Amino acid sequence: MDPPLPRYFSSSASTPRSLECCLCPRRCLIPPGASGRCGVRQNRGGFPTLPFYGYVTALAEDPIEKKPLYHFRPGSPILSLGFAGCNLHCPFCQNWHISQLGKVADTDINGRHLSPEQVVTLARERLFSQIAYTYSEPLIHIEYLLDCMALCHGEGIANVLVSNGCINAEPAAEILTLTDAANIDLKCFSEETSEKILGGKLGTVLSFIEAAYTAGVHLEITTLIVPSLNDSDTETRGCAEFIAGINREIPWHLSAYHPDYRYEAPPTNPTALLKIARMGREYLSYVYTGNIPGESNDTPCPNCGATLVSRRGYRVDNGGLALKQINGKQVYCCAKCGETAPVRR
Ligand code: SF4
Repeated sequence: MDPPLPRYFSSSASTPRSLECCLCPRRCLIPPGASGRCGVRQNRGGFPTLPFYGYVTALAEDPIEKKPLYHFRPGSPILSLGFAGCNLHCPFCQNWHISQLGKVADTDINGRHLSPEQVVTLARERLFSQIAYTYSEPLIHIEYLLDCMALCHGEGIANVLVSNGCINAEPAAEILTLTDAANIDLKCFSEETSEKILGGKLGTVLSFIEAAYTAGVHLEITTLIVPSLNDSDTETRGCAEFIAGINREIPWHLSAYHPDYRYEAPPTNPTALLKIARMGREYLSYVYTGNIPGESNDTPCPNCGATLVSRRGYRVDNGGLALKQINGKQVYCCAKCGETAPVRR
């Protein structure tokens, strides 16, 4: 499999044969023989190379709720592809074995190469109508994603992006034209935490979220609530207000953290998570909680309150939804009162 020409690199005027990667706000200056901070975008003898193009570290069949996406084709299966590396270095990363490539010794990236054509063939053979690019950060493999996504659209397969949203405006605009649905991590609401602890840039993520919404991508947001890092009232309220400023109907997933990688704070207290969810509902119509026992994450009808979709863990009953026609297009509605449902097909 011949990788395509790498994109979003430029030569450095000041350092001969070094390359600047312009994909994400880190803008790594990469000398010959080295990789950028994500571990996957490389400079070989002054030329950009993508040795991990098509290198798939995880391939799984998931319920779409696991992404998590609750308002896009609820109860449907999705083919999930994972990759290697990440442009962030969150100390609590739950996928650090594959994401922290080149940054820690014991990463484990056993995988295999799959061409975009092979991915689409696999999806068709297994009767999937959607593919998720997920687990570690897919956007650092943007060349591969663009190739897969274009082929998927040609076959009527939807593209789902699960991402930290931390890439610059130009590549963001390009990838969003091929993205049908996305779950974006809003990991914190502090520029200092974003830069010093996670290695990202909050402003870039906020811009990506706004761009995805403007592009018509079905959008859901996830925040992993990490004690002492992002669980203050100021910060969580900041997240909720920002999302509501775009559209209060955007679902917000609050997820409980557990100790992993280099972070040893005790797990998120379920009571604290539920309190943040109550605060979130002051701003947003749909706030869900994840990774805590006994959670109720049903989606009610905005008109009559009937349950449209009920969820117990990954067991989903979408019997409260029916279909109706609007302008010749079939959309979901409430089976009881007929109100258009906040759920996309
Ligand atoms: S995508 Fe990777 S190589 Fe490019 S700027 Fe970001 S961390 Fe650096």
